[in-house]
Amino acid sequence: MPIEMIISDKELEQAGFYWRELEGVQALICAPLEKAGFANGFSTRLGGTSPMPDGALNLAGFNEDSAENILENRRRFLKLFAGGDAPWALAGCWQVHGSAVRLINNLSEAKPAEDARGDTVYCDAIVSNAPGVLAGVKLAEVATKALARMTAEYQSNPREVCVAIGPAAGACCYEVGTDVIEAFRNSFPGQNLFAETRMDHACIDLLRANRAQLISAGVNQNRINIAPLCTMCRTDLFFSYRREKTVQGKVGRLMSVIGRKNE
Ligand SMILES: [Zn+2]
Repeated sequence: MPIEMIISDKELEQAGFYWRELEGVQALICAPLEKAGFANGFSTRLGGTSPMPDGALNLAGFNEDSAENILENRRRFLKLFAGGDAPWALAGCWQVHGSAVRLINNLSEAKPAEDARGDTVYCDAIVSNAPGVLAGVKLAEVATKALARMTAEYQSNPREVCVAIGPAAGACCYEVGTDVIEAFRNSFPGQNLFAETRMDHACIDLLRANRAQLISAGVNQNRINIAPLCTMCRTDLFFSYRREKTVQGKVGRLMSVIGRKNE
């Protein structure tokens, strides 16, 4: 039996996270969410079978990698969340940079993403209260839309919601142009989200923007856990489309999952 490793890291620990590793596959776990009874994890590029480059844990993007690779990588990733008797059903979606929220009521609704060649449902966020379903997404832009759907479907109280925001392009690296700056200034009046870099360009703090959005939607700020890891700084651990697209052509996809354990 392979032994699962817990890697300790002080800075991560203070932010509410720790690393879990099994057979070379490594994921970031949010401890408060796990303690509340939710299996969860943010994938890294480590321990996979895709040539992006060698041994990459690419979890999506069926147009750029073989289905065999992606499905094998997903199997390896899901092994990190073993524990109950029943296996997890991974519910994915083909993300479209919109704000469609997919509701999953039971295991069979979650299944297609795992069995079919490709994620066949188009959406940007998943909400579910079905045990055994791992909701997997690749973006964090639609947090408040997902929260609104949870409030509508499950009568969730935003004050009691616990949030984990995983590794993302950080304020240290994520440069945007005038159009994005303008749009965010209009959506987040009074929030200082930018650090000017050069003429008509600035680095944007998307984590701060997400956090501000969640807080204004009623989430308790003490229940928002943010991983202190930038995907663009740490390409040794994560895929970064921005950093790698021009260099390598094909870039692997990370995935974040969360689900209720089977009772
Ligand atoms: Zn960075």
